[in-house]
Parts: sequence; structure tokens; C-alpha cells
Amino acid sequence: MKKRKLICIVCPRGCEIDVTMSDHGEITGIEGNSCKRGETYARAECTHPVRILTTTVRCEDGRLLPVRSSCGIPKERLFDCMEELRSVTAAAGAMIGDTVVRNILGTGADIVVSGNAGA
Ligand code: SF4
Repeated sequence: MKKRKLICIVCPRGCEIDVTMSDHGEITGIEGNSCKRGETYARAECTHPVRILTTTVRCEDGRLLPVRSSCGIPKERLFDCMEELRSVTAAAGAMIGDTVVRNILGTGADIVVSGNAGA
């Protein structure tokens, strides 16, 4: 049996969640969450963790444009997505909310502009 401690990141309360797993990786207990969303988060984090990708892409005019994924990307795919974005050039006039890449590497996540281009 394995125990894992998590901090729930779903809301600012940040509950400490204890997850108990069998030697085969089955979740046998979840404690410490104050709501169902915390349980859902803990299950996902222990079985198929995902993260929102935040980074920058280069614009046609050379400036860096902040972008983020529209939904969580499996952790094991984040590095590949970062590599893919190195070869992407966004339009100089890209606006917040514009999609830069659709369904990046088949993950189901779009990469969207999240801020104004900087130097
Ligand atoms: S378990 Fe519920 S209340 Fe606690 S941090 Fe997660 S979402 Fe917030």
C-alpha cells in the first residue's frame, strides 16, 4: 500500500488530500478533501495528471506572445508540446483569445493567446 499527499489546486482553499493506493496502483481511499471536486482532482492527479501549459511563442515581428492551453494537457506530453511551439510563429496582430494552434499534437487542447506581445 502506498500513501500520497496532494494539495488540491482546484480552488484557493488548498485542501491537503491523502490518497491511499494499493500496490497495483488502485486508489483505495481519499481523505482530506472538503468537496467532491477535490476527490475528482485527486483521482485524476494519481491516474492521469494534466497541466495547463503556459508559455510564449514568437510573433512574426520577433516579439514574444504569451499563450496557454485551452485545457489540461497530459503531463507526459508537455515537453513535446513545448518543442512543437518552438516552431510556431504567430501573426503580428494576434489578439488575446486568438487560437495559435488547434488540437496541439492531438491532445485536444488548443493553444490560445493569453496576453499582449512583449519585447
Ligand atoms: S477539495 Fe474542494 S474545497 Fe478543498 S481545495 Fe479542492 S476544490 Fe477547494
